[in-house]
Amino acid sequence: THSKRQKVSPSGYRPINDDTILVQDHYNSRPKVDISKRGESRIIFMRNFNNWVKSVLIGRHAVRGGTVLDLGCGKGGDLLKWKKAGIATYIGLDIAEVAIRHAKERWRDMKGRKFVVEFNTLDCFSFPLSTKIPRTIDFDVVSMQFSLHYAFESESRARMALRNISSNLKQGGKFIGTIPDANWIVKRLKALPEDELAFGNEIYSIRFEQKETFPTFGHKYWFWLADAVDCPEYLVHFRKFERLAAEYGLELKYKKRFHDVYDEAKDEQMFRELLYVMKVIRENPADGEMSEAEWEAAGLYIAFAFEKVR
Ligand code: SAM
Repeated sequence: THSKRQKVSPSGYRPINDDTILVQDHYNSRPKVDISKRGESRIIFMRNFNNWVKSVLIGRHAVRGGTVLDLGCGKGGDLLKWKKAGIATYIGLDIAEVAIRHAKERWRDMKGRKFVVEFNTLDCFSFPLSTKIPRTIDFDVVSMQFSLHYAFESESRARMALRNISSNLKQGGKFIGTIPDANWIVKRLKALPEDELAFGNEIYSIRFEQKETFPTFGHKYWFWLADAVDCPEYLVHFRKFERLAAEYGLELKYKKRFHDVYDEAKDEQMFRELLYVMKVIRENPADGEMSEAEWEAAGLYIAFAFEKVR
């Protein structure tokens, strides 16, 4: 049905391409509570693990009493993590209006709402934030969890994302996020037999349309994750991303594969306990454990942190 939709943004001045509409439609059609969260999913442990990695990243970079801007916030799945980090203000933006509605409901139903929260819809890779947030806030943290890679569809979208990140961060503020690891994905792609373009396992698949060119922007593949995602995504070639980010005064401070975040943080007492609280590891072995397939899929991702230095 997306092809019938008008390919023009609400404000009418900038066309939105087909893939952006696909992504938007996809996230608009997600149910409020994924089956992956109801405990019936094949990716429940991976989901819990991904949330744990985000908690580590948030726990290390959040500023008590500080301000957070969450771009591509989805259904507000990180609200509780930010609450625990003791922030004062949170603004969440997402292109999918249904996700934003669910985020608002989640916030409404949350207990102990001790901070200020605002949700709004915005295509954060096409428009400056000032379209929706007229006042100026110098945020302590900008967070982009599993969303930045959608901006790498084109240079102008990636630049708009970086402009929105950098121009709303205070000096010394942090930009944190999680994205698929292009390096690992490309290695897997190159290891395939000559006529093959797809790899994965029973819970995820990555399918390229070609493997002759490796463009910096618009390096598209199709990503399927059981009970979760099925839409076009773009590789974020990290070195190029790092160089681009530098143009916007952002300096890389931290970058690790999820597997390595686990190795690094699992023995810190707070995060060790969280592994059980968040049900990444179950106390009772009868409650199951993460499958090999889930661990492989979790290894797809990296976590990063930049600091605004200029
Ligand atoms: N950050 C949430 C989380 O960690 O659970 C949601 C992650 S979800 C995989 C990716 C989100 O990015 C979706 O909610 C999608 O609508 C959003 N997104 C994609 N393109 C966007 C854009 N141009 N502007 C704002 N959000 C976008």
